[in-house]
Amino acid sequence: MHTEALAAFRDNYIWLIRPDANDPRTLVVDPGDAAPVIGALERGGLELRGILVTHHHSDHVGGIRELLQWWQAKHPADEPPVWGPAAEAIPARTQAMRQGDGFSPTGWPLRLEVLEVPGHTLGHIAYVATALQGEEPPSLFCGDTLFSAGCGRLFEGTPAQMHHSLNKLSQLPENTTVNCAHEYTLSNLQFARAADPLNEAVVAHQKRCLALRAKGLPTLPSHIGLEKQINPFLRTDQPGVLQALEQHKGQKPGDAVQALAWLREWKNDFKG
Ligand SMILES: [Zn+2]
Repeated sequence: MHTEALAAFRDNYIWLIRPDANDPRTLVVDPGDAAPVIGALERGGLELRGILVTHHHSDHVGGIRELLQWWQAKHPADEPPVWGPAAEAIPARTQAMRQGDGFSPTGWPLRLEVLEVPGHTLGHIAYVATALQGEEPPSLFCGDTLFSAGCGRLFEGTPAQMHHSLNKLSQLPENTTVNCAHEYTLSNLQFARAADPLNEAVVAHQKRCLALRAKGLPTLPSHIGLEKQINPFLRTDQPGVLQALEQHKGQKPGDAVQALAWLREWKNDFKG
């Protein structure tokens, strides 16, 4: 499986998935803007074989129709499928996906499984891509639910829903790559320094990411094992995070859901 992050807008990533680097067949994840995708497909002589959508926000769906129109102007008989969450209104969606749904794009040695991960939006889904041949680690495409060292804002869902969703993602195999939809890692790590102050893995990863960003490179993909070490939103049961929360709020959180709620509120107001 070959994946590539296309930069879009200010800090979005649109992910491309191909069977391997020499294969032109391409799936596009969350094309909020068509222009960078069309540019990449034209440059690489790539073929649009389908679109995967995680949630309804415009920076994830805004380019779907234009991308399909561009492709169909050249291939009128072709109708690339658009997979998207069943519980949200997604432009041009052809396949409504729910928890546990699995599928293989026609002729690909690839299996995609759907996880419902509400919180950022109510119908938000994530895709886990697994190659059917070889020993490659699975790849998670998690939209705005899990970011490296952070999580999405709770625009529609509750802290309990987000807590459950993050738990679900943290149970994936540790080598699962995490392909997030935004380059938020450095600001998230700055918050992680405050929320998990004794965690040396955060400091070490911040150093690596500063070096990557200085060269204009993405800090992604991450992987689940690393996120469990550095992401305070996956570490709300850890003494260091609980202590920092208690200091910040002046009292101990009652349970893990409250800890996540307080952590998310703290991050919303955090100025590094
Ligand atoms: Zn969003």
